[in-house]
Amino acid sequence: MDAAALIDTLHETHRLDRAQWLFLLSAHTPEDRARLAALARRTAQAHFGNRVYVRGLIEFTNHCRQNCRYCGIRRDNRALTRYRLTPEEILACCDQGSALGFRTFVLQGGEDAGFSDSLLCRTVERIKARFPGCAVTLSAGEREHSVYRSFFDAGADRYLLRHETADAAQYRVLHPPELSLAHRMDCLRQLKEIGFQVGAGFLVGAPGQTDETLAENLLFLQEFQPHMVGIGPFLPHHETPFATEPPGSTEQTLFLLSCIRLMLPQVLLPATTALGTAAAGGREHGILAGANVVMPNLSPVAVRKQYMLYDNKLSSGGESAQGLNQLRSQLDAIGYKIDWGRGDSPLVQSANR
Ligand code: SAM
Repeated sequence: MDAAALIDTLHETHRLDRAQWLFLLSAHTPEDRARLAALARRTAQAHFGNRVYVRGLIEFTNHCRQNCRYCGIRRDNRALTRYRLTPEEILACCDQGSALGFRTFVLQGGEDAGFSDSLLCRTVERIKARFPGCAVTLSAGEREHSVYRSFFDAGADRYLLRHETADAAQYRVLHPPELSLAHRMDCLRQLKEIGFQVGAGFLVGAPGQTDETLAENLLFLQEFQPHMVGIGPFLPHHETPFATEPPGSTEQTLFLLSCIRLMLPQVLLPATTALGTAAAGGREHGILAGANVVMPNLSPVAVRKQYMLYDNKLSSGGESAQGLNQLRSQLDAIGYKIDWGRGDSPLVQSANR
């Protein structure tokens, strides 16, 4: 096998088998990496132009009943001051975002029993009523099928639920025994079946990762065909069991972004905050590697430091909705512009409900 030929195969057929993924992951050269990024960038431009969609990210609660070993808002982090926004505070964030031009609001939070499912439904309904034509994305973890259904019926358009890793053994390294990969996958399939535009994704460089686990992730995405994929480097948080683990690599994250763009040419692919935190210019490099979405922070400034999933998480400057001018000039410097459209998946017909 030859990595350059595998890149051609991926570019032309949008798929590789397990042995091919493994070879590409383990045996590519810096020249292969550069060519892969150039092809991924060209593919993104063919579908989206030199434009990047923006989403306003509202981190509405940092309470969480789960205890994921990598996550700074895990249940056992007693050092964290917990907060929960009220629906009125969430709507005020949307007011600000709407005035800035945002047409997608992403409500992300821990699995917080104190923010009931019905309250989240009512909040989605109020956002959709106040900002007609906007899209609402939820990212609120694992729920019952009937609850996902009620979120959809309330008007939520999209749902982000990273699978974190598609390798069952690594999943057990990253999560406590009460969480299972099988259930996470069931949730993703239910979300898709209900009609959401669905985002999956994984942590890059988290403990237990090997080329085999990465190949498993790529094969899962190839089979599941999500509308959105969120990947970012694992970054340690000092109050978690993984405090002293090394961070995931920026270079590997960029390589994987390019692989995903060639595998799923029309996917909505964010250059994530973790990528921007891991390296200066990380987000711009992500766009040049094939990403086409950024998610500036619209949360109230007073709570941003409390949604600390990992140490030093960025939430100001170009990562902040209020720092749009900085984002504009960062994009301008690499020849890109903000796209103020809703940015639905091109794979979905008449997404505007
Ligand atoms: N509770 C919801 C869920 O589980 O999908 C959404 C919130 S969760 C905090 C959002 C994402 O943050 C996770 O899917 C995970 O990939 C990412 N994350 C958490 N801890 C991280 C870390 N230490 N480094 C990088 N990403 C992290």
